[in-house]
Amino acid sequence: EREAARLNERTTASRDMYERARVHLSGGVASSYQLRDPWPIYIARGDGPKVWDVDGNEMWDFHNGFGSMVQGHAHPAIGAALAARYPQGTHFGCPTEDDVVVADELARRFGLPKWRYTNSGSEATMDAIRIARAFTGRDTVMKIFGSYHGHHDTVMVSIGVEYDKIGDRENLASLPYGAGIPQSVVDMTVAVPFNDAGAMERRIERLEAEGRKPACVIMEAAMMNLGVVLPEPGYLEAVREITRRHGIVLIFDEVKTGLAIAPGGATEKFGVQPDMVTLAKVLGGGLPSGAIGGTEEVMSVVEDHSVYQVGTYNGNPLTMAAARASLEEVLTPEAYAHLAHLNDRIVDGCQAIVDKYDLPGYAVGIGSKGCVTFSTAKVVDYETFKENQDAELADLAWLFNLNRGIFMTPGREEEWTLSVTHTDEAIDAYIAVFEELAADLTR
Ligand code: PLP
Repeated sequence: EREAARLNERTTASRDMYERARVHLSGGVASSYQLRDPWPIYIARGDGPKVWDVDGNEMWDFHNGFGSMVQGHAHPAIGAALAARYPQGTHFGCPTEDDVVVADELARRFGLPKWRYTNSGSEATMDAIRIARAFTGRDTVMKIFGSYHGHHDTVMVSIGVEYDKIGDRENLASLPYGAGIPQSVVDMTVAVPFNDAGAMERRIERLEAEGRKPACVIMEAAMMNLGVVLPEPGYLEAVREITRRHGIVLIFDEVKTGLAIAPGGATEKFGVQPDMVTLAKVLGGGLPSGAIGGTEEVMSVVEDHSVYQVGTYNGNPLTMAAARASLEEVLTPEAYAHLAHLNDRIVDGCQAIVDKYDLPGYAVGIGSKGCVTFSTAKVVDYETFKENQDAELADLAWLFNLNRGIFMTPGREEEWTLSVTHTDEAIDAYIAVFEELAADLTR
């Protein structure tokens, strides 16, 4: 309560903005994920690793636009690319050279030869699933319980569910996330637990026996919406083997991991090659973006026109100019080495504090991402997360951070994202505030 009151005092301009915003902007925000009680924080500007809210509070940005801004805010190379593009026109509904250059580079990084663009991660997963359905001639989609893949109906299933509604491991529930999702669509999505290849295979076999073999398995190779949950050794290899043996398209949703945890995302990091990859977030360097990569075989259904993968703004020239500059000038091998250095420091620093103060939890990280998972047991899937997370502590840590100039993703399921503009100073600041919280808690 003390921290909540303190934040309210520091954000009175946001409060006033919220009053104004609510008149014509539903709930005062552009997306429900921006909501926050009692009011959202409205941001005025960002520069490199920092953001300033409308009250003038200066914060180190570890939120980074829900993990999009690995380039940092207002990166000069992206600014120059946009400034060069704008006078030449920003939208034609026709392909430009940057589309080609970016596809070449993504093919090299992700080991998948064929690419298409979208304008968001949701569009990328929606189209990827349609392609997989067309390729296999099947309707059922398998996903990981608790994984977020965007806001279209097929994947708004079996996330954000109360622990006691999950169902048993072999038969996890298919439940819609919010109203307005047709039951017939929900029924076509089947969820299995993360880090359990045996449960996946048994469910596939049962579905096959029912004549409902899945078209695809869509998953994050490392889950990024229960904090960070890494794959156990051998799990991804087993999933690859099972999906290949059953003729099921394996889609790695790399909207959060792609370009963020390695040059070629989780696909490169874990060395397991999926049939398809979806990207968004970091790709656009702050502009709306999305991409789908696939094998020659799977993407043939796009090339032979049996699937319409379309969109007025697909390959938008401004987005593609930003993507090209990101890939060529910002997200370089040196940048990933810098991110790894910083992430090692922040993970080790937080873990040392967890140990010193005997907090319930552990620090975990990969590439530019990580978090302190406040949990009494190791989180390996949704069930262990829901059962063991200290949600109150997660909420308090967020407020505590914000009051001390550390801007973190809201919600109990998110993680930090570092940018190439972050420095040791930013990491020191994060660790110092975390130690202050730990000391406060144990006082
Ligand atoms: N897939 C994953 C793994 C995500 O984390 C997200 C968004 O957070 C999406 C898809 C949806 O992306 P977008 O919000 O750009 O539609």
